[in-house]
Amino acid sequence: TVAACDIENRPADRVGRARNPNPSTRTNETTKTEDNHVAIKAEYIWIDGTEPTPQLRSKTKILDEPTDDYPIWGFDGSSTNQATGDKSDCVLKPVRAFHDPIRGGENVLVICEVMLVDGKAHPTNTRAAAARTAKKYKKHEPLFGIEQEYTMLRPNGNPLGFPDDGYPAPQGPYYCGVGEYAITGRQIAEEHMDACLAAGIGISGINAEVMPGQWEFQVGPRGLLEVADEIWVARWLLHRIAENYDVWISIDPKPVKGDWNGAGAHTNFSTKEMREDGGYKYIEAGCKALGQKADLHIKNYGAGVEDRLTGAHETQRHDQFSYGVSDRGASIRIPWQVSVDKKGYLEDRRPNGNMDPYIVARLM
Ligand code: ADP
Ligand code: MN
Ligand code: MN
Ligand code: MN
Repeated sequence: TVAACDIENRPADRVGRARNPNPSTRTNETTKTEDNHVAIKAEYIWIDGTEPTPQLRSKTKILDEPTDDYPIWGFDGSSTNQATGDKSDCVLKPVRAFHDPIRGGENVLVICEVMLVDGKAHPTNTRAAAARTAKKYKKHEPLFGIEQEYTMLRPNGNPLGFPDDGYPAPQGPYYCGVGEYAITGRQIAEEHMDACLAAGIGISGINAEVMPGQWEFQVGPRGLLEVADEIWVARWLLHRIAENYDVWISIDPKPVKGDWNGAGAHTNFSTKEMREDGGYKYIEAGCKALGQKADLHIKNYGAGVEDRLTGAHETQRHDQFSYGVSDRGASIRIPWQVSVDKKGYLEDRRPNGNMDPYIVARLM
């Protein structure tokens, strides 16, 4: 049997009850059962076994009333590349709940770990190992900020802002741009940001990116499991909101071949020692340590990372390692302000948009 679920954190306190200000996804907030009490909808979210890049899955469980103790549940692993048909049952172990900003009210989004029926972590469950690492290095109080880049695609597969045939004007005006000439998809990005805030996700900003139709949101600074759980739930919300606009969200590292920026997931990292006065030497030590295991990191930073880390488009080559102040062509950048303050954090620029944050944060 599987141990009773431990909900590690109730939704963050920076927001109150989920309110959904957005027309595209507003649904009924409460649903009364026959005997007139309020049932809640818990959307159980997990990560599947799709190769080489796992995908999000979810399904809804009706609970008789709000609870802090979400029951374990199951699913058909033979439909998610996580089991064979003759032994298809996989177990969902709830680990953290968020307000559901789409359904509102007392409804929740529940992120789960996938378990085997014998209670062990499923081989596709990368969170279990991340949890062990978080515990081991707890005294260094590691913090992460992840910049998730993504591309909004039309049903024909072209990014928003690309004409049916050919290409838009070359890159230049789009990054952090404003105005119809440069920017498409802002409504989705804004709605997604509001949804993350209402859910209790530690989102720290958004910006339009270098290629048309490409955007970024950031989560952090947060602890190891927090940042990774929240990136996955924020991705789920993004896919879900985009459904309402007939838009498909891609976190593919190189959605358009040629002279167009890829999509990364720069991962900013610090320890307590790096953030304190005199922390610069720990930041440099961190850069050197990352260089010593460069191959291991590259292998685990998302499928297709070699195609994105070409040395062009603000990247270092995947087979070379370097670090430097303000250097967007380096593997690791030390932000300029950090070099002035002599403390702060480092930015690993290598992770792909399609990386698994449980793996990347664990390795760092
Ligand atoms: P960039 O200039 O690379 O585009 P962003 O502003 O998009 O940077 O992202 C920086 C990220 O770093 C944010 O998510 C922020 O929360 C995070 N961050 C800031 N300070 C720290 C820190 N001390 N440790 C870890 N992450 C941090
Ligand atoms: Mn950024
Ligand atoms: Mn960016
Ligand atoms: Mn960055």
